[in-house]
Amino acid sequence: MDNEKIEKLQSIIDESERIVFFGGAGVSTESGIPDFRSTSGLYRQEWKYPPETIVSNTFFYDNTKEFYRFYCKKMIALEAEPNECHKKLAELEKCGKLSAIVTQNIDGLHQKAGSKNVFELHGSVLRNYCTSCNAFFDVNHIIHEHETEPDGIPRCTNCGALVKPDVVLYEESLNDSIVTGAVNAIAKADTLIIGGTSLVVYPAAGLVRYFQGKNLVIINLAPTDYDRNADLLIEEKIGEVFSKIKVRT
Ligand code: NAD
Repeated sequence: MDNEKIEKLQSIIDESERIVFFGGAGVSTESGIPDFRSTSGLYRQEWKYPPETIVSNTFFYDNTKEFYRFYCKKMIALEAEPNECHKKLAELEKCGKLSAIVTQNIDGLHQKAGSKNVFELHGSVLRNYCTSCNAFFDVNHIIHEHETEPDGIPRCTNCGALVKPDVVLYEESLNDSIVTGAVNAIAKADTLIIGGTSLVVYPAAGLVRYFQGKNLVIINLAPTDYDRNADLLIEEKIGEVFSKIKVRT
């Protein structure tokens, strides 16, 4: 680990008053949840269809059984625990230095670590709704139905209709109020830390362009198209990086 870069990150954090963190699947790989584009990511694993096909709106309705087979096996990870990145970000919010987390993740690990102001651009596996009567179901209902129903498809206990995760699938648009909240937070930030994201999934990745503050930090194992704009670029594991950071007011 490059100690000079860690020291620079520490001094940026110490000087900042309104940090926003923008993250993706790479934030949770050290918690044991695979991302999409790393060498061990879901894109390299053998499935009959590529992940972006399976997690699309068309596929959800046309191949619901196969959707849930993939989704329950690969996208729900209830046993996963927050790592040092999730935990330090929650501490930074608690001590008033971090104003928001904008995440593309759907795993709920930032909230599990204690973060409050989290804009979940792509929704959450923890929330699920009936496609007909809109009744709410938690993730345990999805798992239980998947394991006990002969076709593995979760249905509504009120009306019997199909239950859909509150996750933004490919072909679906982002929630307007979540995008507005995320944009406002990014636009007001003095420091933006981008981490664990390939920045190729749009429109989410485009939100980082609203940043006009002082310090842009990128912490990502693989290069991104945004690296040339960074004031500080750290190509290391993000949990390991945050484990070296001290939270002080
Ligand atoms: P991605 O898979 O496209 O990219 C992940 C990036 O993180 C890669 O560039 C990789 O080099 C980097 N990375 C992996 N582990 C890292 C680590 N420990 N430290 C630093 N960098 C690391 O992910 P994306 O950009 O978020 O886009 C994929 C889409 O799929 C998003 O919508 C994402 O939320 C969703 N997804 C979510 C989860 C989850 O909720 N945990 C998991 C898989 C995919």
